[in-house]
Amino acid sequence: MTTVLVVNSGSSSLKYQLLDGAEQVLASGLVERIGGAGSITHRGPGGEVTVAADVPNHRAALALMMATCTEHGPQLAPDVVGHRVVHGGARFSAPVVVDDEVEAAVEELAALAPLHNPPGLQGIRAARATFPGVPQVAVFDTAFHATMPPEARTYAVDADLAARRGIRRYGFHGTSHEYVSQETARFLGHAGRFVVLHLGNGASACAVSGGRSVATSMGLTPLEGLVMGTRGGDLDPGALLHLLRTGMTVDEVDTLLNRRSGLAGLTGTGDLRDVLAAAARGDAQAALALDVYAHRIRGYVGAYLAHLGGLDALVFTAGVGENSPEVRARVVEGLGHLGLVLAPARNEARGRGARLVSPDDAAVPVLVVPTDEELQIARHARAVTAG
Ligand code: ADP
Repeated sequence: MTTVLVVNSGSSSLKYQLLDGAEQVLASGLVERIGGAGSITHRGPGGEVTVAADVPNHRAALALMMATCTEHGPQLAPDVVGHRVVHGGARFSAPVVVDDEVEAAVEELAALAPLHNPPGLQGIRAARATFPGVPQVAVFDTAFHATMPPEARTYAVDADLAARRGIRRYGFHGTSHEYVSQETARFLGHAGRFVVLHLGNGASACAVSGGRSVATSMGLTPLEGLVMGTRGGDLDPGALLHLLRTGMTVDEVDTLLNRRSGLAGLTGTGDLRDVLAAAARGDAQAALALDVYAHRIRGYVGAYLAHLGGLDALVFTAGVGENSPEVRARVVEGLGHLGLVLAPARNEARGRGARLVSPDDAAVPVLVVPTDEELQIARHARAVTAG
């Protein structure tokens, strides 16, 4: 029975989960504010504890996790460690066991994902030092989208330049889209043509056919596509040229695109619950933000229906997709001509696990399927090291 430790490193946080061979979660937790006076919240056999500690770096975060496990359980002796790595570039189309050469390649890819790859790399380095001899597996957010056909992954720009500089659509949230589409196939009993809407702080749509990604809304970076918490998704590149020519610096544009756009840019808050509450109080800007948010999603659903040549399920997942009946209703509203309708009572009911939110006789099932990226990373880590 293989015990897997899953590590998801952010720039100032580290999430972990320990799963046994039966996919039971033995422990999970979060180290926050890495880089200074931080803390760990750990859930183990004895319940949840939060402990304050100095956490200068990711190595210290793993040491804190080890010490907390030693004190509060469970015993931490993983057979394999699985890491979330955001960008696998053109090279990594599948999970891989990390060696020095892979580590160097992930470091090189930081040029394409400067915000996202360095923390993953720090997590890998810290875990290699903390668990010597234990295989480390990198699982890439981009890998599931490696099956996109050329017409879906190619940007129509200078072909030589694009090839030299790696300018193409890679797609992200792949671990989630893969897990959710597999769970959808299990639920329905067949792997058909699905559109998966991963709506969290980050958000992306994915067209899945026969278990393979054939189109997705994020591109070279996780900035393209849907409206997100603080990222605006699709934007005329001419707007960026205009801003740069009229005095904004590259760093200011970076901040605009990553932090001051999306729901946050339109309303001042990137948390969809706050935007819904403001709209319910009559705030016109919040109402506009929700309209833009849903309008963008509906555009992608329509486009992917055309790419797929039909639809066997529309699937909602992640924080917003799993928890907001109102957003699901706004997305599906008026799409009856495409076979998409909700059963209002099912849509409103809270539930765990995969569930149907459309009527039994609907032409296209609409589902809520909770994502579980940690479990999918654990499955990959186990599969890659099984031989
Ligand atoms: P991340 O992308 O960081 O993993 P999540 O998938 O947890 O994020 O999604 C976070 C988002 O989900 C936030 O915008 C939050 O407002 C939203 N959310 C969580 N619960 C609800 C809810 N009940 N209704 C609407 N939105 C919700």
